[in-house]
Amino acid sequence: MAKPADTRTAGRKPAPKATRSTAETEKIRAALAARRDELRAEYDQTLSEITELQRDRLTDSAGDDQADTGTKTLEREQEISLANSILERITQVERALERLDEGGYGWCERCGNPIPVERLAAFPSATQCVTCKQLEERR
Ligand SMILES: [Zn+2]
Repeated sequence: MAKPADTRTAGRKPAPKATRSTAETEKIRAALAARRDELRAEYDQTLSEITELQRDRLTDSAGDDQADTGTKTLEREQEISLANSILERITQVERALERLDEGGYGWCERCGNPIPVERLAAFPSATQCVTCKQLEERR
């Protein structure tokens, strides 16, 4: 069973207990870059959907009643907020890539252990390993 965390060391920034190999860093970089490309494609897709909705609104609004217009406006607003959240995620991934270059990325801020590549690829903004995250959520 896991021992409770030593409170005397809490708050102190843990030094990395392990070093990451260049190969592993490259793996993280590739995973992040792939994620960024994926998000960019998603963003482009959303933008073209917004453009399409906008065009629909302009071209076939003649027969629309107020409800139709309202629905289209709502759809467009939802698409825009979706686009914005994708853009935010792209920014997160780009920041992660910058931090990776500086060597300050991918280490758990609680225990100092390296965060697994798979987790970083899925959650580029992750700052804790799964174990620490679960411990924190249980509190
Ligand atoms: Zn940890």
